Amino acid sequence: MLFLLLFPSTTVQAQDLTDLDLEEIVIPIRVHILRSAESSHLNCECTKEEIVEWFDRANTIWRSAAIRWELESLVYEEANNPAEFDRILELGRDADPADRRSVVHSTYPLDQKLAPGWNIFFINRMAFGGGVYNPETKSVLIGKFRPGGDINPSILAHELGHSLGLRHLREQYNLMAGRQEGIEPKDKIRLNPEQITRARTIAESGDSFGGSL
Ligand SMILES: [Zn+2]
Repeated sequence: MLFLLLFPSTTVQAQDLTDLDLEEIVIPIRVHILRSAESSHLNCECTKEEIVEWFDRANTIWRSAAIRWELESLVYEEANNPAEFDRILELGRDADPADRRSVVHSTYPLDQKLAPGWNIFFINRMAFGGGVYNPETKSVLIGKFRPGGDINPSILAHELGHSLGLRHLREQYNLMAGRQEGIEPKDKIRLNPEQITRARTIAESGDSFGGSL
């Protein structure tokens, strides 16, 4: 355990970047902050400074792929279906997964999306996990707070990974790994060469990934 603590994540990233020597790709992102007078769970009070800081931290992870996320614009929008969202949140683990999924993805409006491009919707608190990517709406939805803490930039970086066509895999410390015994989400930051190639291909296409994950 001590061994791991002695090797901070930055060591891994710096080495990966030097090995690959890739040209940087900048991805513009539109951030949508959802507001709701009816649901405190949907109503996000996040500031632009907080958003910029979260992306700065996600960018330190994506540096190993020479991909940088850059804020294109920030829009404030009214969330849809607040009562349904609160119902799903109260049900917690008892919620039917298909029902939960459709409600969660109905909360964000799609009429101010950057299209083609990348869109991230922020709410106050997710109904499950920390964030989710939907290839059908080509949108990331993420909560400022998650069960067990506040936003974790590696969760943001992970969802952005899905928007670049990356699937889950079992690989220790990988950004796209699922739950791993004894490994904190913040320590899951690695990208392997295949993931880097795939992510860069989608990034260069100019549009968020739209296939099946
Ligand atoms: Zn995931």
